[in-house]
Amino acid sequence: MEEENCVFCKIVKGEVPAYKVYEDEFVLAFLDINPINDGHTLVIPKKHHEDFLHLDEKEIAELMHAVQKVAKAVKKATNADGINIGMNIGKAAGQIIFHAHVHVIPRFENDGYKHWERKHKDKPDFEEIAKRIKENFK
Ligand code: 5GP
Ligand code: ZN
Repeated sequence: MEEENCVFCKIVKGEVPAYKVYEDEFVLAFLDINPINDGHTLVIPKKHHEDFLHLDEKEIAELMHAVQKVAKAVKKATNADGINIGMNIGKAAGQIIFHAHVHVIPRFENDGYKHWERKHKDKPDFEEIAKRIKENFK
C-alpha cells in the first residue's frame, strides 16, 4: 500500500481521526476501531513501513519500547488480567493494514477468546526445519 493511501499515515498526519493515547517523536498509539476487548490499542511507527520486517534496528527499539509503556498503561487502565501483544505480517497472517503496527490487547479470565487451534497434527522434522532457519540469518 502506498503511503498516500495509507489510513494509518493519515491518522499520523491528523487527516483521519483516532483516539490517540500515546505519542512521541517516532511512535503513535491509538485505540483500534474494532477492538477485541475495550482498550485494544495499536502502536505504530510514524514513518510508513509495510510491516515489522521492514523496520531497522532503531525503529524496532523505539516501537517496542513504546509497546511496553502502552501495555503497562492499558493493563492498569482496564484492570486486565493479561495482555496479548501481536502482529499480523502478510495477508496470509491476517494483515489488513499494510503499515507496521503492534496490537496491544487486554485480556480477561474467561473473556471467551481462544488461542490458535493446532490443526497440524503430524510431528514435523524439527531438525531439518531448525537447520533451515539457522541458515537464513543472513
Ligand atoms: P491487522 O492489519 O493487524 O489485521 O489489523 C489492523 C487493525 O486496524 C484492525 O484490528 C482494525 O480494526 C484496525 N483499523 C483498521 N482501520 C482503522 C482505522 O481507520 N482506525 C483505527 N483506529 N483502527 C483501524
Ligand atoms: Zn502508512
